[in-house]
Amino acid sequence: MEDSIFAQFARGELRPDKVRFENDEMLAFDDINPAAPVHILIIPKEPIASVAELTEAQAGIVSRMVYRAKLLAEELGIAESGYRVSFNVGKDGGQIVPYLHLHLMGGSHSWRDRQ
Ligand code: AMP
Repeated sequence: MEDSIFAQFARGELRPDKVRFENDEMLAFDDINPAAPVHILIIPKEPIASVAELTEAQAGIVSRMVYRAKLLAEELGIAESGYRVSFNVGKDGGQIVPYLHLHLMGGSHSWRDRQ
């Protein structure tokens, strides 16, 4: 798997600017170039390149990442107004960073049509 800045975050070699959550298996941090008022990325600490590379044994971490997105949305006050949880997969899916990451985006209506 190709190295990337998110892999360096996961290994603890670099620290994202704004960490929102961390435990043994995942890290959540603000997107450096936010596409919405709230734009958080959640990555697993175990290296996984994308949804396309996911094994059945790794599926549990992805569900816990989605659950963490729900909790962060509640903490940040966007749960009631709604939000988007998404994974970009591969070149045609718009994935630029070759390390699995979940986007949590919300906070207004205006950003949606730009995606
Ligand atoms: P994707 O197109 O799904 O690969 O999205 C990658 C996201 O990572 C983009 O929204 C970038 O703005 C974001 N990003 C890239 N480098 C960093 C970084 N150092 N810290 C936080 N977010 C980043």
